[in-house]
Amino acid sequence: MTLSARHAAISHVGRQRPGNEDAYLVRPPLYAVADGMGGARAGEVASEMAVAALAELLAEPPLDDQTAAARLAEAAAEANSRIHSAASADAARSGMGTTLTALLLRDDHALLAHIGDSRAYLLRGDKLTQLTQDHSLVAEMVRDGRLAADEARLHPYRSILSRALGTEPDAEVDELRVDLLAGDVLLLCSDGLSGPVPLDKLRKGLAAGDPEKAARRLVDEALRHGGPDNVTVVVVQLLDGAAGGESDATETLVLPAEEPDRDSAPDPQEAAAGDAEAVADPLRRRHWPWSRRSGASRAAAPEANG
Ligand code: CA
Repeated sequence: MTLSARHAAISHVGRQRPGNEDAYLVRPPLYAVADGMGGARAGEVASEMAVAALAELLAEPPLDDQTAAARLAEAAAEANSRIHSAASADAARSGMGTTLTALLLRDDHALLAHIGDSRAYLLRGDKLTQLTQDHSLVAEMVRDGRLAADEARLHPYRSILSRALGTEPDAEVDELRVDLLAGDVLLLCSDGLSGPVPLDKLRKGLAAGDPEKAARRLVDEALRHGGPDNVTVVVVQLLDGAAGGESDATETLVLPAEEPDRDSAPDPQEAAAGDAEAVADPLRRRHWPWSRRSGASRAAAPEANG
C-alpha cells in the first residue's frame, strides 16, 4: 500500500523564554524537530545545524529501505560531528548541542532517528503511543524504577539530557521503524509541548481532524499551560495514496515562529536563580539561564516543498 501525507508545523517561542532555540524541518518525506541547548545563542545554532545537515544529506532519499535507514543514521552522525566540531572551534559555542527527532516516510512505514527528549508520537484511532524514549536523567530514573512516571513531569531536573547531538565526539542515536496505516497521525514535538501538556490533551489535540488544526490546538494547549518553553510541533497525517496520487494529497503549511509576549517574559535574574541548582549539576543543563536573545524569534526551518 502506498500512503501519502499532509502536514503542518508550528514553532512558537512560548510565554517565558526570550528566544526560540527549537528548529524544525518539513521537507517531505523528511520531517524533524530539534531543540538546541548551549550558552549565548549556541542552542539555536546547534538545532539549526542539525536540521540543515539532515536536509542536505537526505536531499534525495534512497529508493531502497536498507540504504535509507543507513543514510538516516549517517546523517545524524554527520550532524553530530559538525556540531561538535563547531563547538570545539569556538569558546562561545562550547558545549552546545541539540535534541533531534527525525522521521523519514517510506511507502507504508517510517524510519526514525532519535536522540534527546524531543518526542515522536503515533495516534491511531484514539490510541496515542509514544514512539521514542527520552534520553534524559529523569526518564532514565523512571525506567530504572527510581522515580514514578507522574513525578517526572514536574521534576526539577527534568530538562537534563543524558544524550544529545553535538555534545560528544560520537552520539548514540536510536533508530526505529514504524509500520503505518492510512488515517495514522504522527507528531514530532519538543519538550515545550510534551512537558506541560498532559497526555490526554495531546491526544485530543492531535485528533483535531486535519494537521493544521491539530498543530494550532497543540500549541494553544502548551500556551494555556503556561508556555514555559519554546514549543514546536510537526503533525503528519497519513492518507491512502491510491486515490489522488501523492502530489495531489500533499498540503504544506509552515508557520513562522511568533514574537514573544514581552510583558509576560520573566525577570532574567529570577530565572537564573531558579536554574542555579540545575546548572551546578555535572550533567549538562539544556537551557542556560543566561541564554537570552533580543526580541526576534527564529525563522522556521527551510521552506517546505519549494
Ligand atoms: Ca525545550
